[in-house]
Amino acid sequence: MAIWPGKGRFANIVWQVSDVCNYRCSYCNPGNYGGKFRNLDTDRYIETLGSIIDHFKNEGYEGFKIFFSGGEPTVWPPLIPICEFIRAKVDRPLIAINTNLSRPLSWWEKNHHYFHDVVASYHVESADRSRYVENVKFLQYRVSYLACRMLMHDERFAEVVDVGEQLKRELDNYVIEYAHLFNELSPHSEMHHYEEQWKRDFLAQNSYLSKHAVPFSLLDQPKPAYCLELYEGEEPRALNSTRIVSEGKNFFKGWKCWISDALFITTHGDIRLASCNAGKIVGHINDGKVSLSSKPVTCPETRCNCGTDINIPKVRPGKLGAVERLNLG
Ligand code: SF4
Ligand code: SF4
Repeated sequence: MAIWPGKGRFANIVWQVSDVCNYRCSYCNPGNYGGKFRNLDTDRYIETLGSIIDHFKNEGYEGFKIFFSGGEPTVWPPLIPICEFIRAKVDRPLIAINTNLSRPLSWWEKNHHYFHDVVASYHVESADRSRYVENVKFLQYRVSYLACRMLMHDERFAEVVDVGEQLKRELDNYVIEYAHLFNELSPHSEMHHYEEQWKRDFLAQNSYLSKHAVPFSLLDQPKPAYCLELYEGEEPRALNSTRIVSEGKNFFKGWKCWISDALFITTHGDIRLASCNAGKIVGHINDGKVSLSSKPVTCPETRCNCGTDINIPKVRPGKLGAVERLNLG
């Protein structure tokens, strides 16, 4: 009946930092690797981001989750200066990154402390398997959430399954997500159809695995910035958008959706609310003028495709009171 913050409202900023990527996955598109929008004006971005953070602080939001994706964000030069700015401006922000983990171990040794969450996507066509495994072995004790996101390439499906088996054998702390492919990585594309039944069965039965054998001992735990899945008559459960998609639960037409809690900065620099058609452009990262509100919309979409959009707080019609009575904040 709802996807709702587990502990207090928070701002969720997803920043698709550039269209530069060192991989060329066959299921991707040039919008993610074409190199037309390199976006290198660090000072400008810091100024605009500062005014966005001020808006949410003025609205009483305490949690900030800032999620960098691309392209490949670890090859974007402004990344580390911007992470330093966020850590100076916000009390205990949650900084997350979606990376193909292609940087060498030395990069992660130097920079891992900026990030609490690392989504490490495994792209079988380009990945260096041993480097990927070496990096996740390093990160598993140093970040509060490490997701090995296995992109289930159709022709090399068994090989990706084998990498997952290796991770299960060799890691103490992990989340493994076996991600169903879309036909081109974009929020509006169709899900890929796997002809072979065993592949469909595998995905249905193995979308999400986790193991946490060694407790984390991070000194700077971020302020809470997460949502729960709330279903009538069931205990609240931690939200997992990959599983929601696998279980076919990403249909929210008619629900109230607080798209203003979630900003999406595109590779073009547009700042928009959500990545679906309900969202609209509210500013540009280059000009510092951002027009933000805090009102929900009624979801017009047949399907909520993007993981970040699924994470936006939303409530089935007539259920807001019931959610509020749960007193989660
Ligand atoms: S899927 Fe990710 S890693 Fe692969 S080309 Fe696209 S942006 Fe790069
Ligand atoms: S499709 Fe858009 S409006 Fe609908 S639930 Fe997802 S983010 Fe909200």
